[in-house]
Amino acid sequence: MLFKNLGLSDALLKAISQKGYDTPTPIQQKAIPEILEGKDVLASAQTGTGKTAGFTLPMLQKLVSTKPLHKRPVRALVLTPTRELAAQVLDDVKTYSKFVDIRSTVIFGGVNANPQIRTLRQGVDILVATPGRLLDLHGQGVFSLKNVEFLVLDEADRMLDMGFARDINKILALLPKKRQNLLFSATFSKEIKKLANSFLYQPVMVEAAPENTTAEKVDQWVYKTDKSKKTDLVIKLISEGDWQQVLIFTRTKHGANRLAQKLDKAKISSAAIHGNKSQGARTKALANFKSGRVRVLVATDIAARGLDIPLLPHVINYELPNIPEDYVHRIGRTGRAGASGEAISIVSVDEFEYVRGIEKLLGETLDQETIPGFEVTETLKEVKEKKAANKAANQRGRQNSGKKKSGGNRRNSRGNKR
Ligand code: AMP
Repeated sequence: MLFKNLGLSDALLKAISQKGYDTPTPIQQKAIPEILEGKDVLASAQTGTGKTAGFTLPMLQKLVSTKPLHKRPVRALVLTPTRELAAQVLDDVKTYSKFVDIRSTVIFGGVNANPQIRTLRQGVDILVATPGRLLDLHGQGVFSLKNVEFLVLDEADRMLDMGFARDINKILALLPKKRQNLLFSATFSKEIKKLANSFLYQPVMVEAAPENTTAEKVDQWVYKTDKSKKTDLVIKLISEGDWQQVLIFTRTKHGANRLAQKLDKAKISSAAIHGNKSQGARTKALANFKSGRVRVLVATDIAARGLDIPLLPHVINYELPNIPEDYVHRIGRTGRAGASGEAISIVSVDEFEYVRGIEKLLGETLDQETIPGFEVTETLKEVKEKKAANKAANQRGRQNSGKKKSGGNRRNSRGNKR
C-alpha cells in the first residue's frame, strides 16, 4: 500500500513525498479511508505510530474539498493535552498543508496570549489547542467555534489523566451538533469509553497495534541495582556505550533536575524537561536535544507525553512508573515508525513489584541483568527504613522553614503534580 492509493489529492501527496514518506503506517492505512468517508473514528494509537498524519491528512483533504469560509472561522479543532504535543501537531499540519490554501495556528497556555489573539483574529481554518487556553480565549470572544466541522481529541487518555474532563465537556457544548469526530487514545479505560460514547456517532474502531502491547522492535531489559548506584550506572552505560541521544525518565521533577545536573558534572550534556519549567525552557531543551547539542533529556511522564523525537535509540527508566501503562508510553519513544531501539530500566529492590505489574500488562517477562560492581546489596526493609527516615527529615525541614516564614508564601498545590 502506498500513499497514492489512499485517495489523497496531488497537493497533499507532494507534501508527503517532500517529507520523505511513501508508505502509510498501519494506523494511517486504516484511519485515512474511514475519515475521508466522513465517519467518526475511535483510534487506539500512541505516539510513534504516525497517528498525527493519520488524522491531519484526511482532515486537510476534506477541508480543501470545499471553499474556505468568509473571514476564515475555525473549521477544524484539534485538542491536545500538552503544549509540546500541540506545537508538534501544528508542525505536522503546516508540513502537510504546504501546497493547499489552509491557514492554521496553535494556542496553549504558559506564553503571552497576544500574538495568539492577533493570529486568531485574522482567521484560521485549523486550530490546534490545549483546553485551558482555548476556553480562556473563546471566553474573551476572540474567535467563534460555531463553524467547526471537524473535532480531534488527541491523546484523550492523557487529557483525562490531567484533569481536563470538565474542560472537554465545556468545549463540546460550544460546538455545532453536526460535525465529524475523531478520538485518539493510547489506552481504553472505562472513562475513555464513556467519553467516546458521549460524543462519537457510530464510530469506526481502528487500532495501530494490539492494545497495551509494545513495539516488537524495542529490546527491553532490566538492570537490578541499589538506589544509591543508579546515577553511576547510568553514567557508565551512556559513556561506555557512547550513546549520543538518550531519553531518561524520572518520577519527579526534582529527581529530573538532580539527575541532569549530575550527568552534566560527569561531562554528559543534559537538560531536564518537566512541568515546572517555563514553556521557553522546555522548547529550548527539546530543540537542543533534537539537534544533538544536548545528549540526554531527562523527563517526567507528563512532560514527555507526545514528544516527537524520531529514531530515538535509547530510553532509560531511571525509576519505574507505578502505573504499568506509563511504562508502555515511555518505551513508545524508542523503536518508532520502523526504527529499532533499546529500553532499559534501572530497578532497585523497592521497585521489583512494579516490574511484575509491567510484565503482567505486557504478557511477557523482561530480561534481568546485573553489572559487576552494581549488584543489589540493599534489602527491601533497609530501603523502606531509609525512605521513612528521609520523609521524616523532610517533614521536619518543612516545618522548620514554615515556622521561619510564619506560614506565608505557600504554593498552590493544584496541577503540575509531576
Ligand atoms: P506520530 O505518531 O504522529 O507522533 O508520528 C511519529 C513519527 O513518525 C513522526 O516523526 C512522523 O513524522 C513519522 N511518520 C509519520 N508517518 C510516517 C510514514 N508514513 N512513514 C514514516 N514515518 C512516518
